[in-house]
Amino acid sequence: MNKPHNFSAGPCILPDSVLQQAAASLINFDGTNLSLIEVSHRDKNFEAVMDQARQLVKELLGVPDGYQVLFLQGGASLGFLIAAYNMMGDRKYPAYINTGTWSAGAIKEVPFAGGATANVIASSQDRNFCYIPKNYTIPTDSDYLHITTNNTIEGTQFHHIPQTSVPLVADMSSDIFSKVIDVSQFDLIYAGAQKNMGPAGTTLYIVKEDAMARRSLAIPTMLDLKKQYEKESMYNTPPVFAVYVSMLTLQWLKNLGGVSVMEQMNEDKAHLLYAEIDRNALFAGTADAEDRSRMNVTFVLNKPELEKEFDQLWKDAHISGIRGHRSVGGYRASLYNALPQSSVQVLVDVMKHFETKFG
Ligand code: PMP
Repeated sequence: MNKPHNFSAGPCILPDSVLQQAAASLINFDGTNLSLIEVSHRDKNFEAVMDQARQLVKELLGVPDGYQVLFLQGGASLGFLIAAYNMMGDRKYPAYINTGTWSAGAIKEVPFAGGATANVIASSQDRNFCYIPKNYTIPTDSDYLHITTNNTIEGTQFHHIPQTSVPLVADMSSDIFSKVIDVSQFDLIYAGAQKNMGPAGTTLYIVKEDAMARRSLAIPTMLDLKKQYEKESMYNTPPVFAVYVSMLTLQWLKNLGGVSVMEQMNEDKAHLLYAEIDRNALFAGTADAEDRSRMNVTFVLNKPELEKEFDQLWKDAHISGIRGHRSVGGYRASLYNALPQSSVQVLVDVMKHFETKFG
């Protein structure tokens, strides 16, 4: 099978071995001769999957005691609201840093949580979100501070997590498991599965139990993280396939050596591509160098009139998924965990070839 080099931003490339195991489970799950998706989620074999998935998250991220790991539904977009509901204290004036489309989405949900108001303490909108704001003050009485650690569309990433006494909430949808993090800095982390973890359909929550004591709102049951963890992510039927494939992907990551090994591989891939963007006069990166994302590399052509020619070259090289998000245009090469360095090399070679022909 001649599989394309898949730079898709999400859903995105997953390891081949995981896809094969997932495919087999649809016919015969754990030797039961039943499909994974036709057994009860209360079946002991599936309960073991859920337990293992949670355990792998704890192990891979070094989740300290006092935190709960949950696999829920609704995508990270519902996470915007779940975060606001569960983290809102009495003041109803949480701080947000606006670093792009997805942060803006999170900010938009705040008023739905008890009529609260988002205090946008910093924004990079003035330059099309091409950087991460640096100088801002976090009011110490904020209910919480919300950040989007990696901006999937704009190609920027927080390389330094804000140090604050205020409870920290992070949407890590597009960089979780890509690098080592210190979970103890956060009261809540959430991430849609469909980048570094698995298929769309489940969203990971890592929540500090103590944070649940500060809550001030009545919370609809399905959005209530405490109720969800009291039921061990099984308040209702969980997205069994998405959780299973996430478990397989986390197992794959563990077998590879874990998050620190992956971090080095991701740095190498990003360095390879950014070095070519900076060297090759036909290309320009769109994010400020110090804030560039290691997951989503955004760039444009310096001679837009050559777009058709460049597009033909990468298509001929079996590259897929490098068009920029429809809202910003240009190109975006997503270098998620499962993308091999050899695919990045193919793209770099195409860029060099393009320079030879048209530079
Ligand atoms: N946050 C970030 C950082 C994202 O990249 C995305 C989706 N690409 C979302 C939130 C929204 O996720 P979902 O589609 O799972 O709602």
